[in-house]
Amino acid sequence: MPSAKIYYDNDADLGLLTGKKIVFLGFGNQGAAQAQNLRDTGISNDAILVANRPDAYAEDATSKGFIVEHEFEKAAAVADVLFLLIPDQVQPRVFNDQFAPHLKTDVTIVIASGYNVFYKLLNFKPTQDVVMVAPRMIGSSVRSLYQKGKGFPCFVSAEQDGSGNALATALALSRAIGATKAGAIASSAREETAMDLFAEQALWPNIIVLFREAFSILQEAGCSDEALCYEMWMSKEPAEIFERAAEEGFITQLKHHSTVSQYGQLSGALKLDGSAVRAHFKDILYNQVLNGKFCREFSKIEGDLEKQDSSNPLEQLYVEHGKSELGQAEQRVRSRLAGLL
Ligand code: NDP
Repeated sequence: MPSAKIYYDNDADLGLLTGKKIVFLGFGNQGAAQAQNLRDTGISNDAILVANRPDAYAEDATSKGFIVEHEFEKAAAVADVLFLLIPDQVQPRVFNDQFAPHLKTDVTIVIASGYNVFYKLLNFKPTQDVVMVAPRMIGSSVRSLYQKGKGFPCFVSAEQDGSGNALATALALSRAIGATKAGAIASSAREETAMDLFAEQALWPNIIVLFREAFSILQEAGCSDEALCYEMWMSKEPAEIFERAAEEGFITQLKHHSTVSQYGQLSGALKLDGSAVRAHFKDILYNQVLNGKFCREFSKIEGDLEKQDSSNPLEQLYVEHGKSELGQAEQRVRSRLAGLL
């Protein structure tokens, strides 16, 4: 595979943003961080508008000095750039009904996740630019790294080039939020969605199952709940391992472990036959993620996620997981150790 292009500050022209009205729809994790970074880069406060319903998020934006518009129709009508920074599952409803009909024909729409664009859930006009500027960090880190003068990993792409200049605008916006400082990686909504959903629906579910089954058989073999919880995750050892993997290398970090551990892990991984996992992973990637099956399923239950009672499907899944030996044991251990943790 060819290497991805990486864009730095020098590749981006902030001048392209001069005279543009930049609207942030949403002032949550990403909205608050990106709007503040953009302003600190030198975009005038008068050029920025936060569109938010009148509530705590709007109050937060006002307290930070931003101009806030509660009427989405009005915010849409003035936007030259629209950052779409509300949760993915509500974007189609809010964007298509309340923003799209009022947007300028040459507006640049900025997404921070590929999901709704890859699955074609948003209604754009062909003359509009649609770009992706997708930080690979939670909002608080997007802000704190910027404040420390550091960059953060970010994916960038032009998904629809109505103006013929969409990528240049995407790079200017990336630079304005601090994303080209450490290098913004050329990507696409397809690539971002494939990797994100694969991790969420294949990799991490398998990790949950590995921990659940490991817990169960070690419990069967006589290990105590307390020892298991600490051994497996409450000591934060897995978090440290992943931190070192990011800093030093996925396999190289093993050198910090005992010789017995290194030998066990390296030889054990080579002995495992990955073909069944590989087939299972491919099935999820092609028959659940890339073909839109998950997206169609999720769209059906999306409305129920706002329910505040036990019929909320997400709550039901939490209850189901709480029934496992791992879930039950952790509850017992945490209530016994309450106050000590
Ligand atoms: P948040 O959950 O923090 O968004 C909260 C904001 O969305 C608030 O301003 C809230 O205002 C608004 N909002 C929520 N529901 C609605 C609604 N129905 N109508 C209008 N506004 C609504 O979102 P994130 O910042 O986490 O995510 C934004 C985008 O960034 C997503 O595309 C996500 O995939 C992407 N992203 C997120 C990352 C993260 O760290 N969380 C990392 C990288 C990308 P109010 O409730 O007042 O309406």
